[in-house]
Amino acid sequence: MATRLERAVEIATKAHEGQLRKSGEPYIVHPKAVMKILQDWGMDEDTIIAGVLHDTVEDTDLKLEDIKNEFGESVAFLVDGVTKLGKAREGMRDIDTYLPQTKDNMLRLFVATGSDIRVLIIKLADRLHNLRTLSALPPDKQKKIAKESLEVFAPLADRLNMGRLRVEMSDISFSYVDPKRYEELKNLIEEKNRSGAKTMKKITDEVEARLKEEKIKAEISGRVKSVYSLHRKLAKHGQNINEIYDLTALRIIVEDITTCYLVLGIIHSMYMPMNGRIKDYIAMPKQNGYQSIHTTVITKDKRIIEFQIRTKEMHEYAERGLAASFYYNEQKLTESYKTGKIQHLPTNLLWIMELQQAAAQLKEGKKVDTKKLRLNLFAEKIFLYTPKGDIIDLPKGSLPLDFAYRLHSEIGGHVTGVKINGKMANLNTQLQHGDVVEILTSKEQTAKAGWFDKIFTSHARQKLKQQLGGVMDSIPKMAPPKKK
Ligand code: MN
Repeated sequence: MATRLERAVEIATKAHEGQLRKSGEPYIVHPKAVMKILQDWGMDEDTIIAGVLHDTVEDTDLKLEDIKNEFGESVAFLVDGVTKLGKAREGMRDIDTYLPQTKDNMLRLFVATGSDIRVLIIKLADRLHNLRTLSALPPDKQKKIAKESLEVFAPLADRLNMGRLRVEMSDISFSYVDPKRYEELKNLIEEKNRSGAKTMKKITDEVEARLKEEKIKAEISGRVKSVYSLHRKLAKHGQNINEIYDLTALRIIVEDITTCYLVLGIIHSMYMPMNGRIKDYIAMPKQNGYQSIHTTVITKDKRIIEFQIRTKEMHEYAERGLAASFYYNEQKLTESYKTGKIQHLPTNLLWIMELQQAAAQLKEGKKVDTKKLRLNLFAEKIFLYTPKGDIIDLPKGSLPLDFAYRLHSEIGGHVTGVKINGKMANLNTQLQHGDVVEILTSKEQTAKAGWFDKIFTSHARQKLKQQLGGVMDSIPKMAPPKKK
């Protein structure tokens, strides 16, 4: 008997029969490639099946009802979500003419049309394959798709911390948007790598030997900067490649967090760390949940090199992001979540944990409320104004201190009060869409531990934690605002 997946491929092949891609190949090549990508990402069976069927409802005679009867509600929901997503985006084509916050609104649109996170993952796989085969399209279409991918899909991959996907998408796209610059930078990176290869080898050997001496188990590998992120960085730093210190970096992957810090210490005892270039994203993860320690050092022969130190889980999560949470659903992360030991996901990504828990339960054959999987990807946003008219967007539920810390952590640290729409208000007041918020400050005022109760966003919480210093380690991660 055929498996469900084989059955899906059979049905899709029949449905797309006679249709060709622009490359001249039979159309089924595309859904099959999307299937393969989703398999590589370690997605669940329903998602992979929906990937095979993702273009049938829109482009063939197959009906959603047929899919529901054959594969069940979940697959039908996913296919429907992907179809709707495509349609909704048609209407949003000229969005930047009337909304300056394009990217976020696009993302909000994604959420509105398909709030099952797996819909987005299928869409990303779909777009990745379309990019890989972009050369078959006419030049004007190539540019349009490439540009849209750079503006919408690569940032989306980044927000889901799917690093490997982000790099592939943005590099392919950039090669179509600005082919000359792409070639130039690609050659530059290759040349730098060639000339630095010997040094890298030497340093790798040195570090490897030293870690062995210290009996630390580690994997060391080189990581090459992507063309597009080099382009972005150069644009930011006034086009001087000599100021880019992380062109090539060495990655050290170890067993646990304690060892990360141990290795950091060893690296700093071997080479001179550069002032101000140590970034501890383990203690302070990036917004998308990325974790690693970065440090730039100067070697004895005056080479500048960046080290990135992280655990295996952090590495897996940085490369595969959200998809990794599906893959690892019954492994360590869930284990540590169950025991309450999971410390390294920022609060704004806790939904991934929930999703993962649900996925784990599904695997164990337990019933899961599927609505639980249809979590909002990004919390609903509200737009607020400063008295000068600047727009600040914050998640719904934010409080005055969140606003203050978003303006600047210095402002956040000296808040004495707040005026909302011209009237004095309590720091516990939930801000409403369209409010004009004026933060009152005083130099004498300092950050207070009690403020954790008056904060909603993880951003403000982190800033406050920083200001209060290491003594605050016992502060609970989620301190919901008190209702009066
Ligand atoms: Mn497609």
